[in-house]
Amino acid sequence: MGKADVSHLPYESAFVPEILTEDHKIKFACHPGVSCFNACCKQADVMLAPYDVIRLKQHLNLTSDEFLKQYTVPWEMDGDGIIGIKLKTNEDKHCLLMTEKGCSVYDDRPSACRYYPFGLMGVKHTEAKTDEQNYFRIEEEHCKGHEKENFLPETKEITLGEYRKTQGVAEFDQYNLDWIRLMLKKKSAGPSVGTPSTESLQVLFMATYDLDRFKRFILSPNFQAVYNLDATLLEEIQTNDIELLKFGYRFLRQVLFGEKTIDTKGEAVAKRAEERQDIWKARHEAEMEYASLNDPRYDPEVMGDEVMRDDMLKEQAEAAKKEK
Ligand code: SF4
Ligand code: SF4
Repeated sequence: MGKADVSHLPYESAFVPEILTEDHKIKFACHPGVSCFNACCKQADVMLAPYDVIRLKQHLNLTSDEFLKQYTVPWEMDGDGIIGIKLKTNEDKHCLLMTEKGCSVYDDRPSACRYYPFGLMGVKHTEAKTDEQNYFRIEEEHCKGHEKENFLPETKEITLGEYRKTQGVAEFDQYNLDWIRLMLKKKSAGPSVGTPSTESLQVLFMATYDLDRFKRFILSPNFQAVYNLDATLLEEIQTNDIELLKFGYRFLRQVLFGEKTIDTKGEAVAKRAEERQDIWKARHEAEMEYASLNDPRYDPEVMGDEVMRDDMLKEQAEAAKKEK
């Protein structure tokens, strides 16, 4: 175990600045009989990752934009304007999804609720090629699950790895890790990839959290004119949110970091870039700013066009280099 810089973590909670591994032993019991039942949901500070949104919107039978408007609030994740989301609470800080009997979306509760009072932390050391997944502990007065009187006869000391299994977090981590990696890469890339434009931040938000909107963007004539997606992939994207999210990660890696995995339409790209120069210029001059999800300018075609332009220009520059 070591000391961790956890200053970037999205919790107002009292997290303990100590890195924990999967072998770390814990004795903790959370069940309807604990003296503090629901106390954590009455002081909710829950950051959502993209796969959490998929599970919750499906559970609530809402589109992603309906879910975002009704159940979340945006917050700025870092100094570069990356927008994350947290579960909305009422004025007493109670989670809107809490009932007197407990969590109303228990089977689809977010990853942070499953981990609590622990948390997952992605770490990328400057000199390391890959990132690491570690854990941290949250210590809050209201949580009594560590206290003997709340233990059940079957409560045993287990490792954090075993605790993860009891909470079913593996599936969440599987689909959220690429998002954590995108954030780490964005953080560690710093000035080498430049300050992200407002449009690229908006597309980052759309392609990770607002997947139904992202789907409309992919199906838009502008997107289809630039990228080559085969029929199978297109079908998967339209019918399966997880495939849509995975495609979103690929799209973001391409437009943000130049990691090309999505084929563009060659000459058509150059032609389209030329045709749309005036529109892009006009839009750029309009200096869109992220205001709220109700803002009509928060439109997939408007945001996406700017980001696709950058991808097309990169493509053109590479083609020109090859011709030399
Ligand atoms: S989603 Fe469920 S578990 Fe998480 S804070 Fe809300 S009520 Fe509690
Ligand atoms: S033991 Fe902790 S996690 Fe469980 S209900 Fe109480 S406060 Fe919430």
